[in-house]
Amino acid sequence: MASDHSSVLITGGTVMNRSGEARADVLVSGGVVERVEPNLDANVPAEAAGGPRRLVADGCIVSSSFVDLHTHMREPGREESETIATASRAAALGGYGACVAMPNTDPAQDNVAVVEFVRLQGERAGLVTVAPSGCITVGRNGTQLAPFHSMAAAGVRLFTDDGNGVQDPLIMRRALEYARELGITLAQHCEVARLTDGAVMHEGCCSSRLGLPGWPAIAEVLMLQRDIELVRETGASMHFLHLSTARSVEIVRQAKNDGLPVTAEVTPHHISLTDEKLASFSTLFKVNPPLRTMEDVESLRAGLADGTIDAVATDHAPHAAHLKDQDLAAAPPGMLGLQTALGVVVAHSGCSTKRIVEAMSWAPAAIAGLDATHGRDVVAGSPANLVVFSTEGVWRQTPESIVSKSTNSPYFDVDLVGSVRHVVHRGEVVVAGGALR
Ligand SMILES: [Zn+2]
Repeated sequence: MASDHSSVLITGGTVMNRSGEARADVLVSGGVVERVEPNLDANVPAEAAGGPRRLVADGCIVSSSFVDLHTHMREPGREESETIATASRAAALGGYGACVAMPNTDPAQDNVAVVEFVRLQGERAGLVTVAPSGCITVGRNGTQLAPFHSMAAAGVRLFTDDGNGVQDPLIMRRALEYARELGITLAQHCEVARLTDGAVMHEGCCSSRLGLPGWPAIAEVLMLQRDIELVRETGASMHFLHLSTARSVEIVRQAKNDGLPVTAEVTPHHISLTDEKLASFSTLFKVNPPLRTMEDVESLRAGLADGTIDAVATDHAPHAAHLKDQDLAAAPPGMLGLQTALGVVVAHSGCSTKRIVEAMSWAPAAIAGLDATHGRDVVAGSPANLVVFSTEGVWRQTPESIVSKSTNSPYFDVDLVGSVRHVVHRGEVVVAGGALR
């Protein structure tokens, strides 16, 4: 898009790259990073004299913008809860430069026409790269393989039936065989449906005390274990969505030790909240997979810190108020995530800043197949998809701050730390001073 400010100078920040961090100013021009050097501010013309627009980054980190592997944008079909335009606004404010759009739309993203619609709506919104995922099976019904070939030819890299696990091992085995040939990655939502029928929260002491139907950890563990064996047999790569149990971390750690091509993600809520939250009977805390125990939370944090879990992914799942305003059994699972992800991860993960950038930008960009344009080091010649963020400052989310169409955030009463100050997307400033342009 045309702009008076296609040239931007980010001043006073600390640039975070794979090689380490260094104080430097960053000059962006024509959609790419042009120079990364200390004291550029004094050596290029002032804004008033026709020089680049200044973004002050004092006390902040400058890195490649975040990439979310797991965004429910709800369009097409569920626009009362969210649209690609409103999700894009939330994503930009959260420091994201790209989101993988989950395929459980209506119609589902199981063919090129729907996938192209989602991508185009993302381009129209113009705030983040929207990378549609494709379904593994037609209509996410688990019975007939979706047309991988045509969707892959249209640029889809990640295929998933998210919301549903692929139950049938024959279907999953075939899907992996095709995926290996096409060089695409399958992303599994690990849930054996027979074990979670009617469940509303983690099965354990808390569910017994509250008298609520329990969702056992083994429902996740069994499918994860099965699919790792299928990966071992087929050689295809697989990504595991929103892992939630301590045992899952151990299983993925072993699979990686065995050299298998697997990756995994964890959500901000699974490293910050426990099943005790359900004692409020609030549907804000109903999510799939469910919030687990403190032991699970601690294992997930450790797995994220040591790289067993590659990425943080939001599982941003907006639901309109009339949907969440039902009893726990009837309300749909899911919670917002895009605007709070960084604040949760800084406050609750225990990860270093470099590890946070790796888990929120570099690793997910590679898993999503977006690494030509996202998750790059901030060096001359890189595409200018950048975030400027602070790792200090305690805050809590307020309903008024939410730009999603829905307000089902679980963080109104939880301290968050660190915030997004500026975002540059394709060389243009889309967030400045914590506000949309
Ligand atoms: Zn899922």
